[in-house]
Amino acid sequence: APADLSALIDGLVRDVEDFPKAGVTFKDITPLLDDHAAFTQVVQALAAAGRDASGQVVVDKVVGMEARGFILAAPVALALGVGFVPVRKPGKLPWETRSVDYDLEYGQETLQMHTDALTEGDRVLVIDDVLATGGTAAATATLVQQGGGVLHGLAVLMELSFLPGRAAIGDLPLTVLHVV
Ligand code: AMP
Repeated sequence: APADLSALIDGLVRDVEDFPKAGVTFKDITPLLDDHAAFTQVVQALAAAGRDASGQVVVDKVVGMEARGFILAAPVALALGVGFVPVRKPGKLPWETRSVDYDLEYGQETLQMHTDALTEGDRVLVIDDVLATGGTAAATATLVQQGGGVLHGLAVLMELSFLPGRAAIGDLPLTVLHVV
């Protein structure tokens, strides 16, 4: 990603210390979302991950993870002219779901996707705000594959490079707009 976009993001993401718990520096993207020009640039840069070098759209679906992933993934889907698929915490999706459990530092988490969200062979771009340990992204990638999707890549606003997110997603192509 271009250096000026990275700097723009850096200036519009607020570090909140000890949120949601002691020792965590939370990356608050609300100032960026509140800036129409910056939000537009970010959505366009993330959407570029779903295009080839000539600008052709090469994905069939955009998948976003609850909750901040939704905010970025839905406008990316619109920019690419493809559908948006939500991945959610347990008990939120109303239809038949598929689940993947994954480990957190302390305990376990589960993510779900509707069983009919993808069509066999759909090429999928996954979008989230922050790549941290990579657990969320890896679980989402598994849901996409179990749903018959073909992973095209993962695009995130920010990568926390002091955490092993990149290793957790294996060889899934990664687009990062801002590295912390
Ligand atoms: P992980 O599964 O550890 O890669 O965490 C990624 C998910 O948790 C993303 O959906 C992020 O929205 C959220 N997240 C993790 N760490 C942070 C952070 N420091 N600031 C904001 N969100 C975070």
